[in-house]
Parts: sequence; C-alpha cells; structure tokens
Amino acid sequence: MCIFCQIVNQEIPANRVYEDTDTLAFLDIKPINAGHILVVPKKHYQNFEDVPEEELKKVIVTVKKMGALLKDKLGVVGYNVVENNDPVSGQIIAHLHFHVIPRHQVDGNAFWDQRDYQPGEAEEVMKKLIN
Ligand code: 5GP
Ligand code: ZN
Repeated sequence: MCIFCQIVNQEIPANRVYEDTDTLAFLDIKPINAGHILVVPKKHYQNFEDVPEEELKKVIVTVKKMGALLKDKLGVVGYNVVENNDPVSGQIIAHLHFHVIPRHQVDGNAFWDQRDYQPGEAEEVMKKLIN
C-alpha cells in the first residue's frame, strides 16, 4: 500500500488538517514554507488522468478550503497550488496530491524558469494540440 494510503488509513502518523468523506489534507513532512499542505483523494489514484471527475471536484474543493484556511489562520498573503504528474514532473509519491504552498512577500522561492518561444515553435505546438 502506498505511503499516502497508509496516512489515509492512519497506519502512519501525519498532521491531519482537514478531512471529509472523500478527501484528506495534511502537512507536508518537508515544507517549502511552514503550513505547506497536501490534499489527497482518500482512494488511490496515481495522477490527474486517473481520477474520476466527480472525485476530482471534491479534491479541488478541499484545495480551495485549504487556501482560505492558510490565509485566515496563518495570515499568508498568497499560495501556490501545484500538482505533479509522473516522475519526470517531480512526482515522487504515486498517489494524486495537490500541494497548497503558503507564499510570503520575500521567501526566495522561484518556481519556474520561463523562456521565449523560438520562431515557428508555438505554431508547431498548436498544430499538434488542436488538430
Ligand atoms: P511530489 O514530489 O510527489 O509531488 O510530492 C510528494 C511530497 O510528499 C513531498 O513534498 C514530500 O515532502 C511529501 N512526503 C513524502 N513522504 C511523506 C510522509 O511520509 N508524510 C508526509 N506528511 N509527507 C510526505
Ligand atoms: Zn495510495
């Protein structure tokens, strides 16, 4: 059984922040900032494509609640919602989870390196995406 299923089943401990019938929110053991929360469906799905839409809706509603909770109770000024799919993206735990990451005005966390498209590159991608 995966480690997040074990947390859901209370077989290993976690700082449980919120739960309802279908979802659980708990503190990430290695936070980017204090209060970093993970939100999971209680049933095991590996990633975004695997989870049925009805369950995904419940998970995202819990994500929304956790964002509001961070602002309300920890006074964070903003937060990132991140969800990694498959190892190449950085997914380490193969049980769908959303990170809700508190952000502060100056926290030194740069998430993405962005770049410009090369000439014609965006058009090539668009051809593949919408044809
Ligand atoms: P991923 O890279 O798969 O998107 O994120 C997995 C997250 O799970 C990591 O941020 C990691 O710190 C967290 N994590 C891994 N093992 C445990 C654990 O046993 N308990 C808790 N609370 N978090 C964990
Ligand atoms: Zn699992």
